[in-house]
Amino acid sequence: MSEQQQRTERTGRHDERTERRVVIAGAGMAGVQTAVALREQGFAGPVTLIGAEPHQPYDRPPLSKAVLLGKAEESAFDIDFDGLGIALRLGCEVTGVRAGAHELDTSAGPVPYDVLVLATGAEPVALPGTDGVPGVHLLRTLDDAARLRPVLEAGHTVVVVGAGWIGAEFATAARAAGCAVTVVEAADRPLAGSLPAEVTAPMADWYEQSGARLLTGARVARIEPGAVVLADGRTLPADAVVVGIGARPATGWLAGSGIALGPEGAVTADAALRTSQPDVYAVGDCASFPSARYGSRLVVHHWDNALQGPRTAAAHIAAQGAAEVPPYDPVPYFWSEQFDRFVQYAGHHADADTLLWRGDPADPAWSVCWLRDGVLAAVLAVGRPRDLAQGRRLIEAGARLDAERAGDPSVPLKSAVAS
Ligand SMILES: Cc1cc2nc3c(=O)[nH]c(=O)nc-3n(C[C@H](O)[C@H](O)[C@H](O)COP(=O)(O)OP(=O)(O)OC[C@H]3O[C@@H](n4cnc5c(N)ncnc54)[C@H](O)[C@@H]3O)c2cc1C
Repeated sequence: MSEQQQRTERTGRHDERTERRVVIAGAGMAGVQTAVALREQGFAGPVTLIGAEPHQPYDRPPLSKAVLLGKAEESAFDIDFDGLGIALRLGCEVTGVRAGAHELDTSAGPVPYDVLVLATGAEPVALPGTDGVPGVHLLRTLDDAARLRPVLEAGHTVVVVGAGWIGAEFATAARAAGCAVTVVEAADRPLAGSLPAEVTAPMADWYEQSGARLLTGARVARIEPGAVVLADGRTLPADAVVVGIGARPATGWLAGSGIALGPEGAVTADAALRTSQPDVYAVGDCASFPSARYGSRLVVHHWDNALQGPRTAAAHIAAQGAAEVPPYDPVPYFWSEQFDRFVQYAGHHADADTLLWRGDPADPAWSVCWLRDGVLAAVLAVGRPRDLAQGRRLIEAGARLDAERAGDPSVPLKSAVAS
């Protein structure tokens, strides 16, 4: 840590002659990447990263995969925070912000800032009435994963509520551990909020193939000791219940701050990831941003967005308006590992887009493309990483595809560009 950083940390006061103090609220992927990107982009001033969790900052995707199965103990980021002069304040909750005064309230007292970056991520939605009920689990944090590991190790009977991305990954791990798994989903199919019915139809079969039971159109009425009772009266035995019914931006602490929030509480950011208040930025799962590419505001709860967005925010903070920074307008990307398949998605599709199959969904590997007026808008690849990599580049380039060639899985996607 530089002398100036130590002095600022000690006194809490900012010396006008030195650089601005950047304080980052939230020490997950987006917060950590903001701090690292600031240094990469030559920002030399004090950077403080505040995180509510007591653990060294860590990566979340392994929590529903290797960490859950005990194949990895933890997933801490391999970053030398000291060496980079990034001050970590862990186990410290940010409780409010007074934007006019440029001051944060935290569980350890007020923290002044010159530039604030909001990176508090998202929190899982709980099943109503189950808060603190023994045997009911969420899966968001390292502590959640640590509590679930013994459930898998014991081969317990598990009911998973929600057949979304997290539910599918948890079911995969639980089956691999030998648990009896039933997944209950209120909608008529898995991933109903993300993908159209004709695409999720083959994915629903994956549950049964893995030995898990999938009950769709199934609403949970209540949870009793050792059982989940459905609205239609069916009772499912359950040593443990894992709830994966979505996540909401963790922004409740911003109430009354004057920082504008949009639907579902996401911080409303602009294409520079600036919020409605001066000197306050927002990155990662907690923020929404305008996408000129897709003509709508996006909230992206995926890892790649927590990697890319911070680079834009850091570039603006470091440049202070002295250099042109391109707007943040990514082609969103995510992956999921479920039921022995590698599922990847890039882009953003709408119901009106034309859906094009590449391959037979009964086969282990297939893809789907969405075309908007002939231009590739999104691609979903199951076991076809080349389709994903090429598709992502084609989406970035706004390429128009020849539908016949794009629908032929033996033709590389990049060779399906319309002439
Ligand atoms: C189990 C799991 C598996 C996933 N797998 C995948 C995957 O396979 N592929 C993919 O693309 N994405 C995956 N994701 C999503 C991805 O991990 C997230 O998009 C990413 O972590 C978002 O980073 P973030 O920093 O914005 O938010 P978070 O990772 O949520 O980090 C926010 C941090 O802020 C802290 N915080 C919150 N409120 C406060 C406060 N008031 N004061 C101080 N600190 C606070 C939190 O404790 C947290 O540590 C997965 C997520 C989970 C939970």
